[in-house]
Amino acid sequence: MFAIAIDGPAGAGKSSVAKAAAKELGFTYVDTGAIYRTIALYMLENGVDIEDPAAVTKALPGVEVSLEYGESGQRTLLGGRDVSGEIRTQKVSMATSKWVAHIPEVRAFLVEVQRELAKKHNVVMDGRDIGTVILPGAQLKVFLTASAEERARRRTLQLEEAGEQADFREVLREVVQRDRQDSAQLDLRPEDGVILDTTGLSFRQVVQELTSMARGRMENKAGGSE
Ligand code: C5P
Repeated sequence: MFAIAIDGPAGAGKSSVAKAAAKELGFTYVDTGAIYRTIALYMLENGVDIEDPAAVTKALPGVEVSLEYGESGQRTLLGGRDVSGEIRTQKVSMATSKWVAHIPEVRAFLVEVQRELAKKHNVVMDGRDIGTVILPGAQLKVFLTASAEERARRRTLQLEEAGEQADFREVLREVVQRDRQDSAQLDLRPEDGVILDTTGLSFRQVVQELTSMARGRMENKAGGSE
């Protein structure tokens, strides 16, 4: 199997880039953030106090999260119910990055879930700790980043395109807050990773850069020169 690990801060374009690159390469795209988000959603829906790590840990065995792959990409299921849309709200984003993702028991619970996916498929997996903790043996590790201002600009545009009201300064504040909340994972960078700063690059340029790096590594692997 061949695995591409993509880590980096919120809003760097990881999921859209990873999805497009996976499609071009014929790989499965795995969005690990969706799994963390689903745990947060479960806790919020079931009245579990997400600020209480012991309560969240106690409730964890009740979370039945699964991922399905079809024509339209990854669908995230909670107890068989499609929650792909619900996990994207601002409330779930903040609950995930502020509380749920920091609980060691949650991270440990998810290690095997994520590793199993990479055993069955060639994957492009995105998250925060993929190249360091989940798939340290990944053949290509990319840290995808962009300046906070650029990420906030892109996010503002996205929200506006979706018909939502967006204030750049407010979005920038949230981007900076998410960076701070995710810093424990983001600061652990793999030594054998490639940093890809997408500030000023177009979406196509980033996808091309990523797929050409992947193809180069695959040729090396096939040629046995690794
Ligand atoms: O990638 P996404 O923004 O959807 O992830 C939501 C949150 O889940 C992140 O802000 C982070 O707190 C957490 N996360 C994580 N480790 C991962 C993926 C996501 O801690 N591998």
